[in-house]
Amino acid sequence: MATQNTSRRKFIRNASLGFGTLALSPALVNLALAKPAKKLGIALVGLGYYSSGQLAPALQKTNNCYLAGIVTGTPAKAVDWAKKYNIPEKNIYNYQNFDEIAKNPDIDIVYVVLPVFMHKEYTIRAAKAGKHVICEKPMALNARDCEEIIAACKKANRLLSIGYRLHFEPHTVELMRLGQKQVFGKVTSIDTGNGFTYNGDPNAWRLKKAMAGGGGLMDMGIYSIQGSRYTLGQEPIAVKATQEKTRPDFFKEVDETVYWELKFPGGQKVNGKSSYNHDWGYLKVQAEKGSFQLEPAYGYGGIDGLVNGKPMNYPQIVQQAAQMDDFATCVTRNVQSRVPGEEGLKDMRVVDAIYRSLDSGKWETIG
Ligand code: NAD
Repeated sequence: MATQNTSRRKFIRNASLGFGTLALSPALVNLALAKPAKKLGIALVGLGYYSSGQLAPALQKTNNCYLAGIVTGTPAKAVDWAKKYNIPEKNIYNYQNFDEIAKNPDIDIVYVVLPVFMHKEYTIRAAKAGKHVICEKPMALNARDCEEIIAACKKANRLLSIGYRLHFEPHTVELMRLGQKQVFGKVTSIDTGNGFTYNGDPNAWRLKKAMAGGGGLMDMGIYSIQGSRYTLGQEPIAVKATQEKTRPDFFKEVDETVYWELKFPGGQKVNGKSSYNHDWGYLKVQAEKGSFQLEPAYGYGGIDGLVNGKPMNYPQIVQQAAQMDDFATCVTRNVQSRVPGEEGLKDMRVVDAIYRSLDSGKWETIG
């Protein structure tokens, strides 16, 4: 994963404006700013790139939750993490004894940060163990699995949230307002793309269809799909997609670059794309009486935006800290997250339809 991580880091750095403190923008006066009486304990499941590079550091900056436990199959990682983050032995689990977490009152929330094919099993096991769950994106291999996850969490009476950190990011929250409230009239077109140049381990799970569900579309395209949906605040009804592969030997099982057009009920022209071969990360919106855009739009190294050509100038935040703090407050108050499982499901319905369209070469209905 070293080269891929380098490439991903480069992508993020290129997109970076640097971190700041939690935003005080009125648009972000949200649940995250209200402190619960007690900090809730989070256990990270899967200590790979995202957990070690982003989530664990972000959990050092949270107000409403803290890194209470870990679940790992690698004993050496357990030793390192215990030392680095002061995690007691009793809060360290492996994949075999994971279900015993049910008896641990230190753990309120389980955060599933595993390869996509493991999201369903571990999210459902966590909910059955009585824990509230954050599941990383993409939520599951397909929409049917997302539905199963949602049903299992409901049955266990546990809250479920997807790791959609951008819903807590001030530039993104403002873009949602501009689009959804039609501040510059109706949105007429959206153009968005997300991707990075993948040069990592050819045997990585991200390149295996059965483990990742797909390639750049599942990993990066999910953001472009989200971006279109949260700009309009509407659900797309049909999609037509095409793809290209410049490295078919490397991307044997999964998509490299995918292009799509989404049909929304309002008739807006919406084009999206995803790639493991291009460093993209933008969301450009044209409305009847103005335009606005984010670029970088989707990373966590800093988001930048323009409204009618003028900078948005919101502070940069640690998105994951805001996201986890908000979920902790939702759990304390027993209210649904703004990014519940249904958000992940809606994106996966679009992804499923894009794959159907790549196969059929035709417009495919979403849902
Ligand atoms: P990674 O490969 O670096 O980490 C995956 C972890 O799962 C590793 O620690 C690995 O040991 C563990 N694992 C356990 N069983 C495994 C198995 N059978 N096969 C492979 N690995 C196994 O991946 P990552 O980049 O940390 O991604 C994990 C999840 O986080 C993915 O769903 C990814 O889409 C998501 N992610 C989200 C963001 C974001 O910005 N929200 C960013 C990066 C990754």
